Amino acid sequence: MEEWFDLHAHTTASDGTFTPTELVEHARQRGLHGVGITDHDSTEGINEALVAGRRLAVEVVPGVEINTEYEGKEVHILGYYFDTANLELQTLFHTLRTERVARMQRILMKLREIGIDINESEVRQEAGEGAIGRPHIARVLIRKGFAADIPDAFGKFLAKGAAAYVERFKLSPGDAIQVIKNAGGVPILAHPGLVGKDAIIEELIPQGLAGIEVSHPDHSQKDRERYKKIADDLQLIATGGSDFHGSGAEHRGDLGTVKISGDIVRKLKASSTVF
Ligand code: AMP
Ligand code: ZN
Ligand code: FE
Ligand code: FE
Repeated sequence: MEEWFDLHAHTTASDGTFTPTELVEHARQRGLHGVGITDHDSTEGINEALVAGRRLAVEVVPGVEINTEYEGKEVHILGYYFDTANLELQTLFHTLRTERVARMQRILMKLREIGIDINESEVRQEAGEGAIGRPHIARVLIRKGFAADIPDAFGKFLAKGAAAYVERFKLSPGDAIQVIKNAGGVPILAHPGLVGKDAIIEELIPQGLAGIEVSHPDHSQKDRERYKKIADDLQLIATGGSDFHGSGAEHRGDLGTVKISGDIVRKLKASSTVF
């Protein structure tokens, strides 16, 4: 029987609403063989997920998602099968999470300028232990009646070009790729459709890019066919996942609505130098 994996999911360690244990339980309910934990700038959810995975016979793939910038565009880099204890990696994540707090504070200032008063403590409560992100601010905005749902909160306030948008900390895709590689991991370009410039794929190969996320909810069937062909032509690993953020929290589909086969996961693992 084919073993299916969803390799892109967020937990409460970043901006997902499911704890790592709940996510693994959900993966089992959804009939998945395995799930990739890819929190933003954090590996804090991975150990708990591994424990739940052993209990429930769900294969947990350790991962992370790092948001970078290239020519003014958002570029997200996924990393899999790295050494989570790597010092350079954890130092970078610490810096990025600190910058997330500063960014949140600047966003709240901009919101206050347009008459929307949200306290830092409300956002921190929403985020709990997780790496703070715009979805946490969005959820507070919704709860207080300033936005109808997540897409509305982003469109009105949080997306690039919206009223309270604040630039992120500047990190290049090449830097993120290098850190993942130094930690023994496998760097993958997340949802290249978001970048909107396919040439970036080839440009990142000399820097160590090992694959691209072909299947993602933001990619149309045509996109997926195009990216699959690019991956095959450039001998890149073609990964995929749902970018699941939890129940009703996001504009995307359920866990497992995008899934890939086990042979791709085995290729990823074989590309790691520490697994
Ligand atoms: P941040 O890490 O603070 O930059 O927030 C990034 C997260 O916000 C992404 O992982 C998405 O889940 C979410 N996001 C970004 N843009 C949008 C959008 N236009 N609508 C809804 N959610 C979005
Ligand atoms: Zn997110
Ligand atoms: Fe992303
Ligand atoms: Fe994501």
